[in-house]
Amino acid sequence: MSAISELYEEITRCQQCEMARYRTRTVPGEGAEDADIMFIGEAPGWNEDQQGRPFVGSAGKFLDELLASINLNRQQVYIANVIKCRPQGNRDPLPQEILDCRKWLERQIEIIKPKMIVTLGRYSMALFFPQKSIGKIHGSAEKRDGIIYFAMYHPAAALHQHSLKETIKADMLKIPPLLMQINNIEEVKEEPQTKQLNMFEV
Ligand code: URA
Repeated sequence: MSAISELYEEITRCQQCEMARYRTRTVPGEGAEDADIMFIGEAPGWNEDQQGRPFVGSAGKFLDELLASINLNRQQVYIANVIKCRPQGNRDPLPQEILDCRKWLERQIEIIKPKMIVTLGRYSMALFFPQKSIGKIHGSAEKRDGIIYFAMYHPAAALHQHSLKETIKADMLKIPPLLMQINNIEEVKEEPQTKQLNMFEV
């Protein structure tokens, strides 16, 4: 069994928080085990909870469109969430739940070893760009330890606020050139919590 399949089995058995009692299925993530790009959303919604797959509802449809705009499909990237089970009634995840679930995401990153991590929305951004505001840093990237971190609005944001759709589409188009330039992007040395961000704008 591959490392990622073993991890999925462990996630399926997770009983660490109360979300385990209410979930239909865990939603560990899916995609290529050798993907260059890993997209990280927030938490499964109703559709994802039913199917055990990330981003299969209306936000997922838009994500598929965004991927197609850069000539990719979901089999060529990796898609995960900060939280692996659906928070009841689609409530926001609690800080402790995010902390408890973080170990799964960390292990996914270790296994996939993406060259680029794209955060979708505030919760995912908060893990990699603490104390930053999505309105300020969306569409910009920084490189740490060889990985490019790139912040985007959550695709669902465009469904609620139509004006964001073009912004999200434009941010997506920055991904291929960033990956192409990965070796030329200067590393940010400081710890994310304390550093002055050295954002790499494209
Ligand atoms: N929103 C997310 O953040 N993740 C999903 O999997 C679906 C919707």
